[in-house]
Formats: sequence, structure tokens, C-alpha cells
Amino acid sequence: MTEVIRVRTTKRTSIVNITQAVREVVKRSGLKEGLCVVYTPHTTACVFINEGADPAVVQDIAYALEKLIPWNDPNYAHLEGNSAAHIRSAIIGNSRVVPVVNGELALGTWESIFLADFDGPRERKVIVMTLGA
Ligand code: ZN
Repeated sequence: MTEVIRVRTTKRTSIVNITQAVREVVKRSGLKEGLCVVYTPHTTACVFINEGADPAVVQDIAYALEKLIPWNDPNYAHLEGNSAAHIRSAIIGNSRVVPVVNGELALGTWESIFLADFDGPRERKVIVMTLGA
């Protein structure tokens, strides 16, 4: 089964916890044992899994990405002016696969699934596909 989650971001860099929305898709799918693919079809957004309990963690991830891959760099070639967003998205990747066991995402206690938008604000799509029985 496949569903699309739509996420409205609010800032240029927005990291949104989408775990609950993904859990609901898995529940609706009726999948008991298999895989859940979480994919975002954008070149300046990405999907990652990390700590969701303390929001300071994703704040630090955004801070470190800004430091490593600054928004402004006179040597970027891409004329659209959002090279940093493309590079951050390329490095992190636009999908994750999570095992589903006993009908539940097998995430660790502190893990959450995030959509990161590096060129917002805008509406982003996340395709959630469940595979298995
Ligand atoms: Zn671009």
C-alpha cells in the first residue's frame, strides 16, 4: 500500500517529525511483518531517522549542516542559488527503510522519522509504501 503525506514547512530549514503520520499509514495498511519505505521526491529535502525525544538534537543537526555546508558560498555553480540545499539533501539521502514487526515500526526508543526541508517554506510530499504481509 502507498500513501502520500503532505508536509507544509515554515522556514528555509525545517525539520519536521513525521513519525506519527508514518505510524498511521502502517496501521491503515494492516501490514504485520515487512518493510516501510519513507521517500521524499524532492532534490532539496531529505528523510532521516534520529532522536525525537529532545528537539535540541535536530536543532543541532541543522546548526552543524549550516556550518559544514553554508548557504552562501561564492564558488557554488548552480544558478538557482540553493546549492547548499541540494548538497545537504544529497548527503543525507531522500529515503529510509524501517522494519515493521507485529504491525509496528521497529524504531528504537529514542528514534523518530524526520522530513528535513532545506529550501522552504513550501509543501513537501513524503511517499510511504508498505511491503510485506
Ligand atoms: Zn536548485
